[in-house]
Amino acid sequence: MKSVVLVPGDGIGPEITEATTKVIEALGVEIDWQVVDAGAKTMEEYGRPLSPKFFPLAWECGVVLKGPITTPIGKGYRSVNMIIRERLNLYANVRFARSIPGVKGLHDGVDMVIVRENTEGLYIGFEREAAQGVVESIKLTTESACRRIGRYAFELAAKEGRSKVTALHKANILKMGDGLFLRTVESVAKGYNGLEFQQMLIDSACYQMVVNPQQFDVIVTQNLYGDIITDLVAGLVGGLAMMPGANIGENIAVFEAAHGSAPDIAGKGIANPSGMMLSAALMLDYLGFREEGARMREAVYAALADNSVLTPDMGGKGDTEKFTAAVIAAL
Ligand code: NAD
Repeated sequence: MKSVVLVPGDGIGPEITEATTKVIEALGVEIDWQVVDAGAKTMEEYGRPLSPKFFPLAWECGVVLKGPITTPIGKGYRSVNMIIRERLNLYANVRFARSIPGVKGLHDGVDMVIVRENTEGLYIGFEREAAQGVVESIKLTTESACRRIGRYAFELAAKEGRSKVTALHKANILKMGDGLFLRTVESVAKGYNGLEFQQMLIDSACYQMVVNPQQFDVIVTQNLYGDIITDLVAGLVGGLAMMPGANIGENIAVFEAAHGSAPDIAGKGIANPSGMMLSAALMLDYLGFREEGARMREAVYAALADNSVLTPDMGGKGDTEKFTAAVIAAL
Protein backbone atom coordinates (compact mmCIF):
# COMPACT_ATOMS: atom_id res chain seq x y z
CA MET A 1 0.00 0.00 0.00
CA LYS A 2 1.31 3.48 -0.88
CA SER A 3 1.75 6.03 1.90
CA VAL A 4 0.83 9.61 1.04
CA VAL A 5 0.94 12.70 3.24
CA LEU A 6 -2.46 14.38 3.36
CA VAL A 7 -2.56 18.03 4.40
CA PRO A 8 -6.24 19.07 4.66
CA GLY A 9 -5.14 22.71 5.14
CA ASP A 10 -7.66 25.31 6.31
CA GLY A 11 -10.68 27.24 4.97
CA ILE A 12 -12.42 24.91 2.50
CA GLY A 13 -9.37 22.58 2.53
CA PRO A 14 -10.77 19.94 4.92
CA GLU A 15 -14.09 19.78 3.00
CA ILE A 16 -12.55 19.28 -0.44
CA THR A 17 -9.80 16.89 0.69
CA GLU A 18 -12.38 14.71 2.45
CA ALA A 19 -14.49 14.63 -0.72
CA THR A 20 -11.38 13.69 -2.72
CA THR A 21 -10.26 10.83 -0.47
CA LYS A 22 -13.82 9.41 -0.69
CA VAL A 23 -13.51 9.26 -4.48
CA ILE A 24 -10.09 7.58 -4.27
CA GLU A 25 -11.56 5.03 -1.88
CA ALA A 26 -14.43 4.39 -4.29
CA LEU A 27 -11.86 3.82 -7.05
CA GLY A 28 -10.45 0.97 -5.00
CA VAL A 29 -6.98 2.53 -4.66
CA GLU A 30 -5.69 1.81 -1.19
CA ILE A 31 -3.66 4.63 0.29
CA ASP A 32 -2.26 4.90 3.76
CA TRP A 33 -2.95 8.60 4.45
CA GLN A 34 -0.54 10.31 6.83
CA VAL A 35 -2.60 13.31 7.94
CA VAL A 36 -0.67 16.47 8.88
CA ASP A 37 -2.14 19.74 10.21
CA ALA A 38 -1.36 23.12 8.67
CA GLY A 39 -2.88 26.57 8.42
CA ALA A 40 -4.42 29.30 10.54
CA LYS A 41 -5.86 26.95 13.20
CA THR A 42 -2.56 25.10 13.55
CA MET A 43 -0.90 28.48 14.12
CA GLU A 44 -3.38 29.31 16.89
CA GLU A 45 -2.95 25.92 18.56
CA TYR A 46 0.78 25.25 18.20
CA GLY A 47 2.28 28.68 17.48
CA ARG A 48 3.43 27.54 14.04
CA PRO A 49 1.44 27.19 10.81
CA LEU A 50 2.79 23.75 9.84
CA SER A 51 3.10 20.67 12.03
CA PRO A 52 6.75 19.62 12.60
CA LYS A 53 5.70 16.13 11.43
CA PHE A 54 5.36 17.43 7.88
CA PHE A 55 8.91 17.42 6.51
CA PRO A 56 10.08 14.01 7.82
CA LEU A 57 6.85 12.41 6.56
CA ALA A 58 7.02 14.21 3.21
CA TRP A 59 10.56 12.92 2.57
CA GLU A 60 9.60 9.44 3.69
CA CYS A 61 6.47 9.16 1.52
CA GLY A 62 7.67 11.26 -1.43
CA VAL A 63 4.09 12.26 -2.30
CA VAL A 64 1.81 14.85 -0.71
CA LEU A 65 -1.82 15.72 -1.42
CA LYS A 66 -2.41 19.18 -0.06
CA GLY A 67 -5.45 21.35 0.54
CA PRO A 68 -5.16 25.14 0.41
CA ILE A 69 -3.61 27.09 3.29
CA THR A 70 -4.43 30.69 4.23
CA THR A 71 -1.61 33.25 4.21
CA PRO A 72 -2.14 36.53 6.08
CA ILE A 73 -1.90 39.52 3.71
CA GLY A 74 0.75 42.18 4.31
CA LYS A 75 1.63 40.92 7.82
CA GLY A 76 1.96 37.79 9.94
CA TYR A 77 3.72 34.49 9.23
CA ARG A 78 5.35 33.60 5.94
CA SER A 79 3.34 31.56 3.42
CA VAL A 80 3.38 27.86 4.35
CA ASN A 81 3.14 27.09 0.63
CA MET A 82 6.36 29.00 -0.02
CA ILE A 83 8.12 27.25 2.88
CA ILE A 84 7.06 23.82 1.60
CA ARG A 85 8.12 24.59 -1.97
CA GLU A 86 11.46 25.96 -0.80
CA ARG A 87 12.35 23.23 1.72
CA LEU A 88 11.34 20.36 -0.58
CA ASN A 89 12.94 22.15 -3.55
CA LEU A 90 9.76 21.78 -5.61
CA TYR A 91 11.18 23.58 -8.59
CA ALA A 92 8.34 23.13 -11.09
CA ASN A 93 4.77 24.25 -10.53
CA VAL A 94 2.63 22.68 -13.23
CA ARG A 95 -0.99 23.59 -13.87
CA PHE A 96 -3.35 22.29 -16.52
CA ALA A 97 -5.97 24.49 -18.18
CA ARG A 98 -8.35 22.52 -20.35
CA SER A 99 -11.81 23.26 -21.74
CA ILE A 100 -14.15 20.58 -20.43
CA PRO A 101 -17.10 19.50 -22.60
CA GLY A 102 -20.34 20.75 -21.06
CA VAL A 103 -18.59 23.37 -18.90
CA LYS A 104 -19.20 26.94 -19.97
CA GLY A 105 -15.96 28.90 -20.27
CA LEU A 106 -15.09 32.13 -22.04
CA HIS A 107 -13.46 30.04 -24.78
CA ASP A 108 -13.67 26.48 -26.08
CA GLY A 109 -10.80 24.33 -27.26
CA VAL A 110 -8.26 25.55 -24.68
CA ASP A 111 -5.66 22.96 -23.71
CA MET A 112 -2.49 24.31 -22.17
CA VAL A 113 0.01 23.47 -19.48
CA ILE A 114 1.64 26.24 -17.49
CA VAL A 115 5.09 25.38 -16.15
CA ARG A 116 6.17 27.93 -13.59
CA GLU A 117 9.59 28.23 -11.95
CA ASN A 118 8.72 27.69 -8.32
CA THR A 119 11.79 28.40 -6.21
CA GLU A 120 13.06 31.88 -6.98
CA GLY A 121 12.13 35.18 -8.66
CA LEU A 122 10.35 37.64 -6.38
CA TYR A 123 8.98 34.81 -4.24
CA ILE A 124 12.20 34.24 -2.29
CA GLY A 125 10.71 36.83 0.10
CA PHE A 126 13.85 38.99 0.43
CA GLU A 127 12.37 42.36 1.27
CA ARG A 128 13.76 45.15 3.40
CA GLU A 129 12.98 48.72 4.26
CA ALA A 130 16.03 50.48 2.84
CA ALA A 131 14.88 53.81 4.26
CA GLN A 132 11.63 55.03 5.69
CA GLY A 133 9.01 54.65 2.97
CA VAL A 134 11.41 52.79 0.67
CA VAL A 135 11.18 49.01 0.31
CA GLU A 136 13.47 46.83 -1.76
CA SER A 137 12.18 43.45 -2.96
CA ILE A 138 14.80 41.20 -4.52
CA LYS A 139 14.01 39.22 -7.65
CA LEU A 140 16.48 36.34 -7.88
CA THR A 141 17.20 34.65 -11.21
CA THR A 142 19.83 31.94 -11.59
CA GLU A 143 20.94 30.25 -14.78
CA SER A 144 20.71 26.82 -13.16
CA ALA A 145 17.06 27.28 -12.13
CA CYS A 146 16.18 28.67 -15.58
CA ARG A 147 17.86 25.69 -17.26
CA ARG A 148 16.11 23.23 -14.94
CA ILE A 149 12.64 24.70 -15.54
CA GLY A 150 13.30 25.04 -19.28
CA ARG A 151 14.29 21.37 -19.50
CA TYR A 152 11.28 20.35 -17.43
CA ALA A 153 8.92 22.21 -19.79
CA PHE A 154 10.46 20.70 -22.94
CA GLU A 155 10.58 17.19 -21.46
CA LEU A 156 6.93 17.47 -20.44
CA ALA A 157 5.99 18.74 -23.91
CA ALA A 158 7.84 15.83 -25.54
CA LYS A 159 6.37 13.24 -23.14
CA GLU A 160 2.80 14.50 -23.59
CA GLY A 161 3.08 14.69 -27.39
CA ARG A 162 2.65 18.46 -27.45
CA SER A 163 4.04 20.66 -30.20
CA LYS A 164 5.04 24.08 -28.88
CA VAL A 165 6.69 25.71 -25.86
CA THR A 166 6.25 29.44 -25.28
CA ALA A 167 8.49 31.33 -22.84
CA LEU A 168 6.83 34.36 -21.22
CA HIS A 169 9.07 37.13 -19.88
CA LYS A 170 9.69 40.86 -19.58
CA ALA A 171 13.25 40.91 -20.91
CA ASN A 172 12.71 44.25 -22.67
CA ILE A 173 12.64 45.96 -19.26
CA LEU A 174 14.38 43.50 -16.92
CA LYS A 175 17.23 42.98 -19.36
CA MET A 176 19.51 41.18 -16.93
CA GLY A 177 17.23 38.86 -14.89
CA ASP A 178 14.51 38.12 -17.43
CA GLY A 179 17.18 38.33 -20.14
CA LEU A 180 19.03 35.48 -18.42
CA PHE A 181 15.80 33.46 -18.19
CA LEU A 182 15.03 33.97 -21.89
CA ARG A 183 18.55 33.23 -23.16
CA THR A 184 18.78 30.10 -21.03
CA VAL A 185 15.41 28.71 -22.12
CA GLU A 186 16.30 29.55 -25.75
CA SER A 187 19.49 27.51 -25.41
CA VAL A 188 17.52 24.59 -23.90
CA ALA A 189 15.09 24.78 -26.86
CA LYS A 190 17.96 24.08 -29.29
CA GLY A 191 18.16 20.53 -27.90
CA TYR A 192 14.53 19.77 -28.85
CA ASN A 193 14.29 19.91 -32.64
CA GLY A 194 10.82 18.37 -32.81
CA LEU A 195 9.25 21.11 -30.69
CA GLU A 196 8.49 24.64 -31.79
CA PHE A 197 9.84 27.36 -29.49
CA GLN A 198 8.29 30.80 -29.19
CA GLN A 199 8.87 33.71 -26.80
CA MET A 200 6.46 36.48 -25.86
CA LEU A 201 6.35 39.45 -23.52
CA ILE A 202 4.18 38.66 -20.52
CA ASP A 203 1.89 41.69 -21.06
CA SER A 204 1.34 40.85 -24.70
CA ALA A 205 0.71 37.22 -23.70
CA CYS A 206 -2.05 38.33 -21.30
CA TYR A 207 -3.84 39.97 -24.22
CA GLN A 208 -3.28 36.98 -26.50
CA MET A 209 -4.54 34.61 -23.79
CA VAL A 210 -7.83 36.50 -23.60
CA VAL A 211 -8.42 36.86 -27.35
CA ASN A 212 -6.86 33.66 -28.75
CA PRO A 213 -5.86 31.19 -26.00
CA GLN A 214 -5.99 28.20 -28.36
CA GLN A 215 -2.61 29.27 -29.82
CA PHE A 216 -0.83 28.27 -26.58
CA ASP A 217 0.34 24.78 -25.76
CA VAL A 218 3.07 24.56 -23.07
CA ILE A 219 3.99 27.81 -21.31
CA VAL A 220 7.22 28.23 -19.36
CA THR A 221 7.72 31.27 -17.18
CA GLN A 222 9.08 32.70 -13.96
CA ASN A 223 7.41 32.53 -10.56
CA LEU A 224 5.29 35.70 -10.31
CA TYR A 225 4.24 35.74 -13.97
CA GLY A 226 3.21 32.08 -13.71
CA ASP A 227 1.23 32.70 -10.55
CA ILE A 228 -0.76 35.50 -12.17
CA ILE A 229 -1.28 33.94 -15.56
CA THR A 230 -2.64 30.65 -14.19
CA ASP A 231 -5.56 32.46 -12.53
CA LEU A 232 -6.21 34.35 -15.77
CA VAL A 233 -6.29 31.12 -17.75
CA ALA A 234 -8.49 29.43 -15.13
CA GLY A 235 -11.03 32.18 -15.82
CA LEU A 236 -11.00 31.30 -19.52
CA VAL A 237 -11.91 27.64 -19.06
CA GLY A 238 -14.68 27.96 -16.50
CA GLY A 239 -13.23 28.81 -13.13
CA LEU A 240 -10.40 28.75 -10.65
CA ALA A 241 -11.97 25.94 -8.65
CA MET A 242 -11.48 23.46 -11.48
CA MET A 243 -7.79 23.90 -12.13
CA PRO A 244 -5.49 21.09 -10.98
CA GLY A 245 -1.81 21.42 -10.22
CA ALA A 246 1.38 19.79 -9.03
CA ASN A 247 4.62 20.98 -7.50
CA ILE A 248 7.45 18.77 -8.69
CA GLY A 249 10.89 18.21 -7.15
CA GLU A 250 13.52 15.47 -7.35
CA ASN A 251 11.76 12.26 -6.20
CA ILE A 252 9.08 14.27 -4.42
CA ALA A 253 5.83 15.89 -5.50
CA VAL A 254 3.05 17.89 -3.87
CA PHE A 255 -0.35 17.88 -5.60
CA GLU A 256 -2.76 20.74 -4.96
CA ALA A 257 -5.50 22.71 -6.72
CA ALA A 258 -4.67 26.19 -8.03
CA HIS A 259 -7.25 27.98 -5.87
CA GLY A 260 -6.86 29.21 -2.29
CA SER A 261 -8.64 28.49 0.99
CA ALA A 262 -11.81 30.49 0.01
CA PRO A 263 -12.50 31.76 3.56
CA ASP A 264 -15.73 33.40 2.33
CA ILE A 265 -17.41 30.00 1.84
CA ALA A 266 -15.49 27.82 4.32
CA GLY A 267 -17.67 25.52 6.43
CA LYS A 268 -20.78 26.03 4.26
CA GLY A 269 -20.49 22.70 2.45
CA ILE A 270 -20.65 24.38 -0.98
CA ALA A 271 -16.98 24.31 -2.03
CA ASN A 272 -16.27 22.93 -5.48
CA PRO A 273 -13.93 19.96 -5.01
CA SER A 274 -13.18 19.41 -8.72
CA GLY A 275 -9.74 21.12 -8.79
CA MET A 276 -8.68 19.08 -5.77
CA MET A 277 -10.03 15.87 -7.33
CA LEU A 278 -8.30 16.56 -10.65
CA SER A 279 -5.04 17.22 -8.74
CA ALA A 280 -5.51 13.87 -7.01
CA ALA A 281 -5.95 12.25 -10.44
CA LEU A 282 -2.54 13.68 -11.39
CA MET A 283 -1.20 12.19 -8.16
CA LEU A 284 -2.60 8.78 -9.13
CA ASP A 285 -0.84 9.05 -12.53
CA TYR A 286 2.39 9.93 -10.71
CA LEU A 287 2.00 6.95 -8.37
CA GLY A 288 1.59 4.64 -11.37
CA PHE A 289 -2.22 4.25 -11.12
CA ARG A 290 -2.68 5.68 -14.60
CA GLU A 291 -5.90 3.83 -15.37
CA GLU A 292 -7.47 4.93 -12.08
CA GLY A 293 -6.22 8.50 -12.65
CA ALA A 294 -7.92 8.57 -16.05
CA ARG A 295 -11.15 7.12 -14.58
CA MET A 296 -11.16 9.75 -11.84
CA ARG A 297 -10.68 12.56 -14.37
CA GLU A 298 -13.48 11.27 -16.60
CA ALA A 299 -15.82 10.94 -13.60
CA VAL A 300 -15.09 14.53 -12.50
CA TYR A 301 -15.70 15.75 -16.08
CA ALA A 302 -19.01 13.84 -16.12
CA ALA A 303 -20.13 15.47 -12.85
CA LEU A 304 -19.08 18.90 -14.14
CA ALA A 305 -21.34 18.40 -17.16
CA ASP A 306 -24.34 17.64 -14.91
CA ASN A 307 -26.02 20.99 -14.04
CA SER A 308 -28.06 19.43 -11.25
CA VAL A 309 -25.01 18.85 -9.03
CA LEU A 310 -22.86 21.90 -9.79
CA THR A 311 -21.75 24.03 -6.85
CA PRO A 312 -22.78 27.73 -6.63
CA ASP A 313 -19.42 29.04 -7.96
CA MET A 314 -20.39 27.37 -11.26
CA GLY A 315 -23.93 28.73 -11.17
CA GLY A 316 -25.42 25.54 -9.74
CA LYS A 317 -27.61 24.77 -6.75
CA GLY A 318 -25.65 21.68 -5.66
CA ASP A 319 -23.11 21.31 -2.89
CA THR A 320 -19.86 19.47 -2.19
CA GLU A 321 -21.65 16.32 -1.06
CA LYS A 322 -23.96 16.11 -4.09
CA PHE A 323 -21.10 16.78 -6.47
CA THR A 324 -18.94 14.11 -4.82
CA ALA A 325 -21.79 11.58 -4.96
CA ALA A 326 -22.15 12.32 -8.70
CA VAL A 327 -18.42 11.73 -9.26
CA ILE A 328 -18.61 8.42 -7.41
CA ALA A 329 -21.73 7.42 -9.36
CA ALA A 330 -19.92 8.25 -12.63
CA LEU A 331 -17.06 5.93 -11.70
P1 NAD B 1 -9.27 31.92 -3.30
O1 NAD B 1 -8.88 31.08 -4.47
O2 NAD B 1 -9.27 31.27 -2.00
O3 NAD B 1 -10.73 32.51 -3.55
C1 NAD B 1 -11.05 33.38 -4.64
C2 NAD B 1 -12.56 33.27 -4.93
O4 NAD B 1 -12.80 31.99 -5.54
C3 NAD B 1 -13.42 33.32 -3.66
O5 NAD B 1 -14.62 33.97 -3.97
C4 NAD B 1 -13.70 31.86 -3.35
O6 NAD B 1 -14.90 31.61 -2.68
C5 NAD B 1 -13.71 31.23 -4.74
N1 NAD B 1 -13.21 29.85 -4.72
C6 NAD B 1 -11.92 29.44 -4.65
N2 NAD B 1 -11.86 28.11 -4.62
C7 NAD B 1 -13.13 27.66 -4.66
C8 NAD B 1 -13.71 26.37 -4.64
N3 NAD B 1 -12.96 25.26 -4.63
N4 NAD B 1 -15.07 26.29 -4.68
C9 NAD B 1 -15.84 27.38 -4.76
N5 NAD B 1 -15.34 28.62 -4.77
C10 NAD B 1 -14.00 28.77 -4.73
O7 NAD B 1 -8.31 33.17 -3.34
P2 NAD B 1 -8.12 34.34 -2.24
O8 NAD B 1 -9.44 34.71 -1.66
O9 NAD B 1 -7.31 35.33 -2.94
O10 NAD B 1 -7.21 33.68 -1.13
C11 NAD B 1 -7.70 33.15 0.09
C12 NAD B 1 -6.52 32.58 0.87
O11 NAD B 1 -5.98 31.44 0.19
C13 NAD B 1 -5.36 33.56 1.04
O12 NAD B 1 -4.90 33.49 2.37
C14 NAD B 1 -4.31 33.06 0.07
O13 NAD B 1 -3.01 33.37 0.47
C15 NAD B 1 -4.57 31.57 0.12
N6 NAD B 1 -4.09 30.82 -1.06
C16 NAD B 1 -3.57 29.60 -0.83
C17 NAD B 1 -3.15 28.83 -1.90
C18 NAD B 1 -2.57 27.47 -1.62
O14 NAD B 1 -2.64 27.00 -0.50
N7 NAD B 1 -1.99 26.80 -2.61
C19 NAD B 1 -3.28 29.31 -3.21
C20 NAD B 1 -3.86 30.56 -3.42
C21 NAD B 1 -4.26 31.32 -2.32
